[in-house]
Amino acid sequence: MGNLLGVFNTVEEAIEAADAAQKLFIKGFTIDDRERMISEIRKVFIADAEKIAGMTVEESKLGRVDDKIQKVMLAATGTAGTEVLSTNVFSSHQGTTIEEGAPYGVIGAITPVTNPTETILGNGISMIASGNAVVFNVHPSAKNVSAYGVNLINEAIIAAGGPVNLITMVKEPTMETMQEIAKSPKTKLLVGTGGPGLVKALLNSGKKVIAAGAGNPPVIIDETANIELAGATIVASSSFDNNLLCIGEKEVFVVDSVADQLINVMANSGSYLLSKEEVVKVTELVFTKDEENAAKPCTEDVRSQFHLKKEWVGQDAIKILKAIGVTASADIRNLIFETDFNNPFVQIEQMMPVLPIVRCTDYEEAIKFAVEAEHDNKHSAAMWSNNIERITKFGKLINTTIFVQNGATMAGIGFGGSGTTTATIATPTGEGITNSMTFTRRRRFAIGNGGNYIL
Ligand code: NAD
Repeated sequence: MGNLLGVFNTVEEAIEAADAAQKLFIKGFTIDDRERMISEIRKVFIADAEKIAGMTVEESKLGRVDDKIQKVMLAATGTAGTEVLSTNVFSSHQGTTIEEGAPYGVIGAITPVTNPTETILGNGISMIASGNAVVFNVHPSAKNVSAYGVNLINEAIIAAGGPVNLITMVKEPTMETMQEIAKSPKTKLLVGTGGPGLVKALLNSGKKVIAAGAGNPPVIIDETANIELAGATIVASSSFDNNLLCIGEKEVFVVDSVADQLINVMANSGSYLLSKEEVVKVTELVFTKDEENAAKPCTEDVRSQFHLKKEWVGQDAIKILKAIGVTASADIRNLIFETDFNNPFVQIEQMMPVLPIVRCTDYEEAIKFAVEAEHDNKHSAAMWSNNIERITKFGKLINTTIFVQNGATMAGIGFGGSGTTTATIATPTGEGITNSMTFTRRRRFAIGNGGNYIL
């Protein structure tokens, strides 16, 4: 790739360029101009979705091209623009006050390898809609496709008459460049999408942070649920992009009386049911066991005993099967198996198409297990039930940012469900489904002495 717009050798250059662009943007362009630029960005990403998806899988070596096309399309079409920027007006005999969302200026944003271009696209649309510029520190394992995306956004903005460099990135992102971005006096807000290490680093920065952290979404199925629909939907959703999505179902808790039926439906909907011996082989394949912690009783915390082998994250189910010596038909999308609550696949956010199923005596035990397995990430959860009291009880207890009933967890980000989308679900810091309004400062203009009060 030659010279790409918005891609800089140093953090300083990337921030300076974004800062200059944002100043021009605020002075010389209206909200309608922003919307015109966003429309152009949507258009070019829709046209290029296939190519971007292919480039992403090739570079990151994670996920499935077909699903990534849909992810790019969703971010391009479902991310809110300027329409969600809201204004509050207060008026009384004492005067009129207008409260609006003003831009921060330059935002520093960190992106994950699991949704590299979707995050740049979604954050880019939201941050431009709110009048900001952004400098990205992208995941190093997706830096080339990310640079391609940053260039594409810049080209679209220019085609719509806007300034270059509203979106920039550092060409060779590292932990050090991330720290430089965090420390720069010119970045007024930090937005991070990623795992616990990133969230911790950002929260230590001393700056305002919007963090979208890890999840481990449980799904409960009780005996009142539509088991056929639940089984088929969970297979499709949890295997989507090889379960790289933070929101994807990662473990199943099913009431005993319908467990066999559910497993049967799943096995007929694209899942491969692992035997006990195969479960052992897959576990040894994708996890290392920490010898120091291995002596502890298993109930202590499986998360300190098992560690994911990164090379197996986001791989195809067929590839995992092949590695343990099993040949399966090409339409197998994920692997399922029955296990107990302390299994590492239940407790650890594994981001691969392996879905553990825990049989529970009743819905109350399922709720207890699910709440524990979510580990207070406050991320996502789902329940399949036709009993509204149980659903309400679980929703309150699990207290996640996204709680889906009788649908795929992806419905919570507008995929097969209503509502706008985002690739940045701000969980530990609480902003939830981010949109352009999230990236604004509330600012008031007040007129005193009865000004503009006309009643
Ligand atoms: P990751 O944490 O390994 O990397 C994310 C980004 O943070 C990368 O750019 C990486 O270079 C950087 N990073 C990682 N550790 C860091 C540290 N200690 N200091 C500074 N920067 C650091 O995550 P990943 O594998 O790219 O993405 C998957 C993770 O992200 C999962 O945990 C998933 O649940 C989470 N995620 C959350 C959301 C959400 O909206 N809540 C969305 C996507 C992914």
